[in-house]
Amino acid sequence: MLFNYFMPTKIYFGKDVVLKNKYILKDFGKKAYIITGKRSSKMNGSLDHIIEALEYNNIDYIIFDEVEENPSLETVEKASLIGGNEKVDFIIGLGGGSPLDASKAIGIFINNPNINRDNINEAKDLKSLPVIAISTTSGTGSEVTQYAIVTDHNNQTKRNLGQSVFPDVAFLDPSYTMDMEYDVTVSTAIDAFTHLAEGYLNNNASELTDTIAKSGLKIFGTCLKQLVEKEIDYSTRENLMLASALGGMVIAQTGTSLPHGMGYPLTYFKNIPHGKANAILYGEYLNIFKDKVRVDKILSLLNLKDIEEFSSIISKLMDTTLDITEKEIKVYAKIMCSNEAKLKNHPEKVGYDEIYNIYMNSLIKDIK
Ligand code: NAP
Ligand code: ZN
Repeated sequence: MLFNYFMPTKIYFGKDVVLKNKYILKDFGKKAYIITGKRSSKMNGSLDHIIEALEYNNIDYIIFDEVEENPSLETVEKASLIGGNEKVDFIIGLGGGSPLDASKAIGIFINNPNINRDNINEAKDLKSLPVIAISTTSGTGSEVTQYAIVTDHNNQTKRNLGQSVFPDVAFLDPSYTMDMEYDVTVSTAIDAFTHLAEGYLNNNASELTDTIAKSGLKIFGTCLKQLVEKEIDYSTRENLMLASALGGMVIAQTGTSLPHGMGYPLTYFKNIPHGKANAILYGEYLNIFKDKVRVDKILSLLNLKDIEEFSSIISKLMDTTLDITEKEIKVYAKIMCSNEAKLKNHPEKVGYDEIYNIYMNSLIKDIK
């Protein structure tokens, strides 16, 4: 056995954790920069909670509430300019993976004025302003990962900025997710599952990440019935948030692999939400994975008998049809073939043909 493990984020998990632990904010500085999306944090109570916590500590704050889904570099640059001029001391990312990833990127850009979108990936070990992550979706695990994934319109893709920004603190309150729309709940939940599965079927998997992944998969499995029946109570919301954080802890070590790399073009070109983009490829991905012992372990942890049952659950959870042509699939397969970062995490040899087949077999029902 030989492995390293590094995940320096302090996690506060449970109902009302922001208010219960508001005193910790005083150590972060005099001026906070809240980075959030356009709407949901104003509705689910999370923005009110963090403002109350900041005011309790007499910490000044400004809010940037323009982060879109799959945040663009343009948005990150705009927010960074404002935060730099306002001389903020720390960042509070509030929302799903999009505001959380944006907040990490903004933390780096503000703290390193010489860094821009063209040189950030080459720069080494850039430090960010401190980041506090308040996650309001249960999917990405971004609150416990070092990754900041942004949309790069110039290159027509999504990309990780290549720096390591683990949030200093993660607040995880499942009650913020109680009123989340069913589609978002499902798509984000499946994202958590894919992190656990791709971390388990991964070149960088270790005894420790396997332990976390197996535990997360088991917890995720207990949520499937409620997800399918659309009766999602607090305890299931709690389990989804825990599974998501465990997924983040796994991919922080292992990275993701084929399905994530293959899902990015579906998100970029077809506007398919991140979790769903992975999910529609997953049955085929599990089918081509040669180490069936590992695949069967995933299925048994989910309490499912085979890949067919898994795929049938995915189609009960979401509409898996997609308006796509074979020509587009060929382009996406080529893009994936050049994604060395994802390919190197996949422990088996795959090339263009396998990737093309995963796309085709997953999406063929709608091929025109
Ligand atoms: P998201 O893009 O952050 O949010 C999706 C939608 O959910 C938005 O419309 C958002 O509304 C809404 N929403 C958020 N919280 C809600 C709540 N509590 N109740 C109701 N609606 C809510 O979705 P996400 O799946 O969490 O994040 C996806 C992004 O994370 C992608 O860019 C993906 O690449 C990235 N990602 C990052 C990592 C990582 O390790 N860093 C891992 C996986 C994925 P508002 O816009 O109004 O807030
Ligand atoms: Zn993901």
